[in-house]
Amino acid sequence: MGCEDNCCKSVFFHHTLLEYILLYKGYSALDADLKKQVSEKSVNYIKLHKDSMESSTTLKSWCPMNVNGKCIAYDCRPMICRFHGIPSQVSKPGAEPVISPGCGEFDIQCSGMDYVVFDRLPVYGELAQLEKKLREHTGFNSRIKMTIAEMIADYEAD
Ligand code: SF4
Ligand code: SF4
Repeated sequence: MGCEDNCCKSVFFHHTLLEYILLYKGYSALDADLKKQVSEKSVNYIKLHKDSMESSTTLKSWCPMNVNGKCIAYDCRPMICRFHGIPSQVSKPGAEPVISPGCGEFDIQCSGMDYVVFDRLPVYGELAQLEKKLREHTGFNSRIKMTIAEMIADYEAD
């Protein structure tokens, strides 16, 4: 909370069945009133996102899972929500690591500290392995590219 440039207002796409199912776990644990509220916000978010794409503008709107500045599906949030904001790198064998800086607020609060190496590549690899196993197990074979709002609308459509 308290971050002006809050990344929960950024448009992120999620690409795995694992994250789709994990977020469903968080969504289904909400009480009926909250679920209704999140579902309605998702419908609105999808409309705003569509409008922003049509007008080639950048959407800055709270993720439907964010209520009063806090994620209400914190334990079930997707990978990018966990990684965003902290400095990290991707180190491919034989190449220089590609380093991503932290978010602006991280810089303000932590730029004087030593960089703690966080390599995303092994995490991506583990996620890919788990996703592969899940898809083999379920037979699901479609491409996924969804915002949180689209996932929630999809849960409600089923
Ligand atoms: S799922 Fe949670 S952490 Fe991720 S953008 Fe939405 S509110 Fe923020
Ligand atoms: S990760 Fe960075 S941009 Fe996102 S809410 Fe935290 S401080 Fe703000």
